Amino acid sequence: MNMLIAGKDVSTDSVIEVRNPYDGSVVDTVPAAGPDEVEAALEAAEAGASQMASLSRYERAAILSRVAALIEERSDDLTLLLAREVGKTMREARAEVLRAVQTFAVAAEEARRLAGEMVPLDGAPTGGDRFGFYLRVPVGIVVAITPFNFPLNLAAHKVAPALAGGNSVILKPASATPLVGIELGRLLLEAGLPANGIGVITGAGGDVGDRLVSDARPRMVTFTGSAEIGKAIVARAGLKKIAMELGSNSAVIVMEGADLATAAERSVRGACALAGQVCISVQRVLVQDRVYDDFLRLAVEVAAGLTLGDQLSEGTDVGPMIDEGQAARAEEWLAEAQEMGARVEVGGGRRGTLFEPTVLTGVPDEARVWKDEAFAPVMAVRAFRTLDDAIETVNASRYGLQAGIYTHRLEDALRAAHEVRCGGVIVNDVPTFRVDLMPYGGEKESGLGREGPRFAIEEMTEVRLVAIRRR
Ligand code: NAP
Repeated sequence: MNMLIAGKDVSTDSVIEVRNPYDGSVVDTVPAAGPDEVEAALEAAEAGASQMASLSRYERAAILSRVAALIEERSDDLTLLLAREVGKTMREARAEVLRAVQTFAVAAEEARRLAGEMVPLDGAPTGGDRFGFYLRVPVGIVVAITPFNFPLNLAAHKVAPALAGGNSVILKPASATPLVGIELGRLLLEAGLPANGIGVITGAGGDVGDRLVSDARPRMVTFTGSAEIGKAIVARAGLKKIAMELGSNSAVIVMEGADLATAAERSVRGACALAGQVCISVQRVLVQDRVYDDFLRLAVEVAAGLTLGDQLSEGTDVGPMIDEGQAARAEEWLAEAQEMGARVEVGGGRRGTLFEPTVLTGVPDEARVWKDEAFAPVMAVRAFRTLDDAIETVNASRYGLQAGIYTHRLEDALRAAHEVRCGGVIVNDVPTFRVDLMPYGGEKESGLGREGPRFAIEEMTEVRLVAIRRR
């Protein structure tokens, strides 16, 4: 596939191979952009920013609704493409496509409602003869940089609200999974978006991404990826709006009296979805001491029952990790935890990119599978005595994206809601829960700002005050 600049297919002499993580076969290739292509994309986006700003809310909403319809219409092809390039199981890929339909549909609704509000200037001693209101105007060019794990829906979460707000967008997808982002760009054009409204540019993040981020023309960078790259982008971006959706080592608290079978099933599935490569994967499970043994037995049974293998077979529950380097890294972290005293209750094995669903106990605080982002199908279970202890453990993390708590006591749920330092607290489910209407984002090193079309549009527009003197 080729890049998309000013509505045209663009190739270069240098290509990147996109491989199926299960068997290493080449799915397709994309060009690696050089400085000329980055410049062309920026120039097109500058023209696109004025074209987008001149579209009415109705026109923007209509385009976004058409994109939602097109994604739905092409869902079988998009599902297969996602499964092949990311290594998602067919079920996971189908779910991502359906989410993208929702994201565009919700963004279309938000495009219509985007408005400022009245400002009561006569409340100030010197404002008595004035009437005020503020508008929400586009920022201009939005650079969107996305990670490998949800290349359709995370692109949708950036592109759809940016366009709804009247901006032009340059999307830089991850080099491991760029294909569906290019396909999304084509669907946007097919839906009637001005050709300069979207650019999709491929190439190494450290080169292409860095040039886009450091350029003075974009007014906003919206990034989803690792905390390390996020920090590097913030340091390079200069005076721009920034939105950062970063990693986590999400926790679930399971209280005595909760439905243990459901908590165990959901926790293991939340740890193993997309082979654990989800920013809100379940990584740390804290179980109240009196139900710890029962929970562990159930969790081990669930993990042992999951089918690991080729993501394209309908019966597969857990597919491959993105590449062998990542799978080997997870294996090394596991060995480190074992040396520190951790016990493998089930799983722990690896064949190439396939990593067995793994449940660990006895993992100390210092082990990387506990304190860092494991990003593999690995879940560590630990007992606690009181909710205070559990909340303290959840909060003793440099991350804070989402956390879950299973409890039948309203008091526990409300304590967690107020005291857990995360962007979202999910009661009676795992932190992996997300729908597109939610404000979604993290505290601490999990990020800055919130996604979800309603919230992202606010980040992607500027407030412009109008003060009118009546006489
Ligand atoms: P990554 O290595 O941080 O890469 C993310 C994106 O940044 C890729 O497009 C990458 O391009 C680009 N990039 C790399 N270096 C760059 C630079 N110097 N300047 C600008 N861009 C640069 O992350 P990943 O491995 O793809 O994804 C996994 C991470 O994403 C995990 O930490 C996960 O938690 C996080 N994530 C967070 C959320 C959330 O909503 N909070 C959702 C999903 C994933 P290349 O691919 O070309 O290197």
